[in-house]
Amino acid sequence: MNALKHVDNHMDVLITDLQKLIQQPSVSAKNEGIEECAKLVKSLLESSGLKSEILRLKKGVAPIVFAEIKSKSNPHKTLMFYNHYDVQPAEPFDLWNDPPFSGIRKGNKIFGRGSTDDKGELITRIKAVEACLATTGDVPCNIKFLIEGEEETGSTHIEEYLKKYKKKFSNDGVIWEFGYVDAKNRPIIGLGMKGLLYVELSVKESIRDAHSSLAVLIKNPAWRLIEAVNTLRNSDGKILIKDWYKEVSPLSKNDLKIIQKEPFDENVFKKEFGIKSFVGNKRGLNAKKALVGEATCNIAGFVSGYTGDGAKTVLPGSALVKIDFRLIPNMDPKKQVIRLKNHLKSKGFSEVKIKIYHGEAAARTNSSNPFVSQVKSAADQIFGNSILNVSNAGTGPMYSFVDILKSPCVSIGSTYMFSRIHSPNEFARIDLLKKTTKCICLIMENFGKN
Ligand SMILES: [Zn+2]
Repeated sequence: MNALKHVDNHMDVLITDLQKLIQQPSVSAKNEGIEECAKLVKSLLESSGLKSEILRLKKGVAPIVFAEIKSKSNPHKTLMFYNHYDVQPAEPFDLWNDPPFSGIRKGNKIFGRGSTDDKGELITRIKAVEACLATTGDVPCNIKFLIEGEEETGSTHIEEYLKKYKKKFSNDGVIWEFGYVDAKNRPIIGLGMKGLLYVELSVKESIRDAHSSLAVLIKNPAWRLIEAVNTLRNSDGKILIKDWYKEVSPLSKNDLKIIQKEPFDENVFKKEFGIKSFVGNKRGLNAKKALVGEATCNIAGFVSGYTGDGAKTVLPGSALVKIDFRLIPNMDPKKQVIRLKNHLKSKGFSEVKIKIYHGEAAARTNSSNPFVSQVKSAADQIFGNSILNVSNAGTGPMYSFVDILKSPCVSIGSTYMFSRIHSPNEFARIDLLKKTTKCICLIMENFGKN
C-alpha cells in the first residue's frame, strides 16, 4: 500500500504539525486558546485535503471542528474519527523540564501538554487520510472528523451537539479518540467504557459543632453517614441497593474468551500500588473480569469533624461523603439515582441529602461486530500483535455516540501507557505515532472493502 510508504517518508511533516498544535495552548478548564486552537485544527484539516467547518451550539460552549471527505470509490460507508483539541491544564508548571507548550523533540519523543492526549492521536488520523489522498487521490471510504473542545472538562455538551447535528455526524463506525499501547508495544483495542454516577451524600445534624461530652444527647452526623454508607455495599464490593443490577446481562461467551486472552500481571499490578490482595480476594480471571465488567461503589472522600494535629474533643455538626459509582452496560444513571434514594429512605436514612454531580451510562461495542476484526487485523499487521479489551475500566462519552448515532465505537491509538498524560512532561513517542498513522490507513482500507 503506497499510503504506508508515504507515511514513512513524511514523518517530518507530521512532527512539525504536531508541534504547531502543541504550541497552541487549548486548556478547556481555563478557556485558554480554545477558539484559536479550533481554527488551527480547521486549517490543518483543510491543508490535508478535507472540507472543514466550525460548528457551534451556543455562546460559551467550545466549538466542534467538523471535517468531511467523500470517497469516490466507495461512497456507501462512512468512518468517523472522534477526537478532541482541548488539553488538561499544565500545572504544576515547576515539574516540567521544558515549558509545557514547547513541543520540543528529544530523540524518539515529543514533549508538551497534549502531545499524546489528544493532539498526538488527532494528528495520526489526519495524516493517515492525507497519505491516502496523496497516493491515490481518494479515500477508501467516506471520512468524517468530529473534534470537540470540552473532553477534558467532561464533554459537557457532546450529547447536545450529537442531537443537533445528528444527520451531519451519521456514520457506520467510530474510531475513538485514544488507544493505549502497553509496555510490550502492543496496542490495546478497546470496545467499551464504563459509565459513572457521581454523588455527594451529607448529613447535617446540629447548627454548629458541639463539645463531645454532648454525644450522649446529640446524634453524631458522621456516625449516621457511616451507617448509611455501610448499607450500600458488602466487603466483597457487591452493591446492595435494591435492583442495582436488574437490567445487567452477563458477559457473553465471546467477551469471556477475549478477557481470558488479555494479559494481566497480578503481581506487577499489586507491587505498583503496594497492596497485598484485591477486593474480595479476587484472583486471575476474576480480577480481569472485574476490571472489564464490574460495577463499583467507591468512597472518593469523607469529611467530618477534626482531623488536624493532636486531639480535639468535638462533636461535628455535619458530615459529607463523595461517592463514585462505575456503571456497566444497561445501567441507566437516572434510574440508579432513584434506586439510591429509595434505598436510603427504606433503610431509615431519609435525612441524608443527595447531590448529583454527574451521570453517564456505560457503552460497549459487540465484540463480534465486523468493525472490530477490521481494526484488529490492521493493528496486527502494523504492530505485529494487539490485544482486545472488552471494556476500559474508566469512563468516556461513548454512550452518546452509541445511543444517538447508533455507531459501533472502537478505540485504537498511540497512547503509550507511561506517556504521562495529564501529568508534567507528557510526551508522544514518534515510533508509535508512525505505526498508528499506518494502522489508521489500513483500518480505512479494511473498512471500505467490507
Ligand atoms: Zn485526557
